[in-house]
Amino acid sequence: AKRAGRGRYRFYDASLNTGNVEAFHLEQGFAEALRSHQFVLQFQPLVHLDSGRIDGYEALVRWRHPHYGLLYPDRFIAVAERSGFIVSLGQEVLRLACEQLAQWHEAGLETSVAVNVSALQLAQPEFADTVLELLAGLSLPAQRLELEITETAILQRESPALDNLHRLRVAGIGVSLDDFGQGYAGFAHLQALPLTRLKIDRSLIAQLSNSHDDSLIVSTTIILAKRLKLQVVAEGVETREQRVHLRLAGCDLAQGYHFSRPMDAEAVPAFEEDFNAE
Ligand code: C2E
Ligand code: CA
Ligand code: CA
Ligand code: CA
Repeated sequence: AKRAGRGRYRFYDASLNTGNVEAFHLEQGFAEALRSHQFVLQFQPLVHLDSGRIDGYEALVRWRHPHYGLLYPDRFIAVAERSGFIVSLGQEVLRLACEQLAQWHEAGLETSVAVNVSALQLAQPEFADTVLELLAGLSLPAQRLELEITETAILQRESPALDNLHRLRVAGIGVSLDDFGQGYAGFAHLQALPLTRLKIDRSLIAQLSNSHDDSLIVSTTIILAKRLKLQVVAEGVETREQRVHLRLAGCDLAQGYHFSRPMDAEAVPAFEEDFNAE
């Protein structure tokens, strides 16, 4: 504490000292944001490259912040991870995604939803139980849910993460390895994980048309994934050229602005009709 004159002391918060005032404010607002339902989801379709049909949607969280406006995850997920709030937020996202899925099913829209799961969330001993209870409570078949995880989530040895994954896989839930090719590329232990899909990071897809190296990495990744009996998803597909290239390279699914930006849940039924009519 520093002397602030007239015998009063001013206390400094570490997060303010680093100049990260926004992170501090966001962190302060998390609990209230959960209570007053400020977190909402948008949905982005995954498309089968061969048939051109929609496979399902990835749920992407947004925060309708009372002061900052609509916030995208890059602004607050890292803060939520550092504070541990990500566990509650992740639970909220799962619940919202499954409720939306159930609502679509009731309306006759048979689809599936993929939800991003953080390392800390997956490492909670009760994670698998919570997910299975949520599905059972909404009478949703496990096959309709996918979980997207990153490698860092399963690198820690004695964490319950791997056990959770195995249990969810056995129940029929799909597991995608997200952001493959971004940073650490662990070809070696891919085999040991209970995965159904591999998602190639959009940084590799973005390079496709102008770099031979990257197209080699992408095609090699696709071949490897096939060997391991995994479906391959390309993320961040923005052009027709990339779509054609990926299809020829044997990629199964694609996601990106070329097909659709993430949209509000209300827009999904009309999007399905238009898209499948083409
Ligand atoms: P991600 O899992 O790699 O999700 C895809 C991101 O790429 C989304 O950004 C999406 O809007 C964006 N994107 C999709 N297609 C294109 C494209 O063609 N071009 C470009 N430039 N971008 C595209 P968003 O929604 O901002 O999400 C960013 C990241 O935040 C996600 O990356 C994911 O890692 C994380 N995230 C999102 N929702 C959640 C969540 O509910 N929980 C957790 N733990 N993380 C989440
Ligand atoms: Ca993802
Ligand atoms: Ca991704
Ligand atoms: Ca990514």
